[in-house]
Amino acid sequence: MKVAVFSTKSYDREYLDEANDASKHDLVYFETSLKPRTTKLAENFDAVCVFVNDILSKEVIESLSSLKVKAIVLRCAGFNNVDIETACRLGLKVLRVPAYSPNAVAEHAVALILTLNRKTHKAYNRVREGNFSIERLMGFELSGKTVGVIGTGRIGASFARIMQGFGSKVVAYDVYPSPALVDAGVEYLTLEEVFRKSDIISLHCPLTPETNRIINKTTLGMMKKGVMLINTSRGKLIDSEAAIEALKEGQLGYLGIDVYEQEEKLFFKDLSEIIILDDKISRLMTFPNVLVTAHQAYFTDNALAQISQTTLQNLTDLEKGNINPQNQVCADRIK
Ligand code: NAD
Repeated sequence: MKVAVFSTKSYDREYLDEANDASKHDLVYFETSLKPRTTKLAENFDAVCVFVNDILSKEVIESLSSLKVKAIVLRCAGFNNVDIETACRLGLKVLRVPAYSPNAVAEHAVALILTLNRKTHKAYNRVREGNFSIERLMGFELSGKTVGVIGTGRIGASFARIMQGFGSKVVAYDVYPSPALVDAGVEYLTLEEVFRKSDIISLHCPLTPETNRIINKTTLGMMKKGVMLINTSRGKLIDSEAAIEALKEGQLGYLGIDVYEQEEKLFFKDLSEIIILDDKISRLMTFPNVLVTAHQAYFTDNALAQISQTTLQNLTDLEKGNINPQNQVCADRIK
């Protein structure tokens, strides 16, 4: 199968090439993302292979369809960047990697918590400059704290179990509570109760119309003063302006984000010599109690290997007309 692979970095090419050794698909790599201006690159390809920040809007999918592209193969689990209705209407198959090392993302969420709390990033810099003072590095113990998990699917469940290992009390909200987590001692509450009771809140739900800006002025106002908020899910779950205001007021005590609502213009790029025009991310980065990582929560060797293997399997299944229904995204299933 001839595939235009967008948004590729050296590590993507390395893992995809390795996984392609057996299947021998014709993979053509593009560093650029897929967006209206670059859609033409997909001419003469059977499928496009894309990542989290490629834009598969109605316009792009209609162009892909007119170029006779038959499938959209995502190298990720989330598909909020794809207009599924249009893809299905035009007969383009959409496949994804529904699960790849959920521990990778859960562990990164924990890394954000520990760094914000125990300030190891500041200690590292201090000590390197010969400053051995521990003034203002005080943290708190996670044992006995209440940790709220919004979305207890694969990643949220892994995160909940890790936090229980610290001795934290885990409370959760999900539209489909997990009986296994209830057995493990997780207490499901209403969303508002989770906001009101938690010392730390971690977001692990997908971005949908219901969860878009689930963290906003009103919900931030329900939280405990000084709460820690962690987002490794999707940037648009948080209204960044409301978060900035809550940080200024001290209502939000810590913010750790691996995703950002306008990240497609920033993340995965070296902009160190360029003036950043996004004032919201610039403001966020000035707070001493904010930690931003650039969508690296998934970035482990296990996860990259699994993503590549499933992506190549999806391409082979497409070619053979034998699609794994677990990996296919259909319009009727997202309603
Ligand atoms: P999953 O499908 O296993 O779990 C998602 C859970 O969210 C499900 O239990 C679902 O019932 C729940 N949910 C849906 N709507 C909800 C709502 N309105 N309120 C509360 N819960 C709701 O997905 P997952 O594999 O655990 O991934 C979760 C998210 O993590 C993905 O959607 C993706 O956005 C994000 N993610 C981020 C990275 C990264 O590198 N930062 C990597 C992979 C996934």
